[in-house]
Amino acid sequence: MIVKLKSDLKDIKTKELISWLKNKGLEIHPSEGKTYSVLGLVGDTAIIDINTVKAFDIVDSVTRIQEPYKSANRKFHPQDTVVNVSGVKIGGGNFAVMAGPCSVESEEQVIEIAKAVKASGANLLRGGAFKPRTSPYSFQGMGDEGIKILLKAKEVTGLPIVSEIMSVTQLEFFEDVDMLQVGARNMQNFDLLKELGKLDKPILLKRGLAATYEEWLMSAEYIMAGGNKNVILCERGIRTFETGVRNVLDITAVPYLKERTHLPVIIDPSHAAGMWEMVEPLSKAAVAIGTDGLMIEVHNDPEKALCDGPQSLKPEKFEKLMNEISKIRTVII
Ligand code: PEP
Ligand code: MN
Repeated sequence: MIVKLKSDLKDIKTKELISWLKNKGLEIHPSEGKTYSVLGLVGDTAIIDINTVKAFDIVDSVTRIQEPYKSANRKFHPQDTVVNVSGVKIGGGNFAVMAGPCSVESEEQVIEIAKAVKASGANLLRGGAFKPRTSPYSFQGMGDEGIKILLKAKEVTGLPIVSEIMSVTQLEFFEDVDMLQVGARNMQNFDLLKELGKLDKPILLKRGLAATYEEWLMSAEYIMAGGNKNVILCERGIRTFETGVRNVLDITAVPYLKERTHLPVIIDPSHAAGMWEMVEPLSKAAVAIGTDGLMIEVHNDPEKALCDGPQSLKPEKFEKLMNEISKIRTVII
């Protein structure tokens, strides 16, 4: 339920209304907009009589939210959420690029790539230590040794790091990781989402292989319901009837979601296309349509990569991409 106010949040009458609502057992999410403020109510709002709330003279209107996602809903929180990843802001006009190898393979590899992507203007370093592979016989990642390597690369370059967590049993290894990634295959791992909801760390939530917008937002809701509001959504391509590309990049997700949620929305063109040649054009389209950021796979020797080599850019190509997208950003801002 949303209560739109005539008063601001500091008003004594607003405070009185908030405590009246809290006494009804509801959780209150106040949000100050440019032109008006709202109180988002979570809990059993069925017990609330709308007319009684309207009787408070500071109340402009009261509406029930039809959508099943509440905390993630823009009606709840009209302004864009800005997620701060160890100093790097994403959302609300702040654009960020996270780049790095699909998987951590060695210290030399990660540090070389981290230095290169930083020099080209990347804001965060990505790298998978725990890898969700389709085949149990494929390289499964370096595990906690891989996380240690990412932390070393962070020390060397200063870039905050983002890495995928696949299970609650891995949480202990992620203490110093700046942002935790939930991969497409785990978007509906509800036990994991609930645990991540208890953390005070940004979560990058990728869209499931065949998830609808609503299912994806409900997964964000799982994290937010636990108290963690630092969620970034990442579109990475979906399954369709098309077999020519690994996945189909759904850039429609950006304007669709931005209308309905206040959370930042970023694009991963690498996993969508599955081919390095398509990463630059898809990135340009993503930037033009208003994405809050990009996640790009970069490898110093893609032919020998242990995972996702065909879709990885060499550092020179990544540098070119960064130059191209900065041109587009100067036009759209
Ligand atoms: C990845 O980022 O390397 C990855 C496995 O992504 P996704 O979950 O989108 O397939
Ligand atoms: Mn990958």
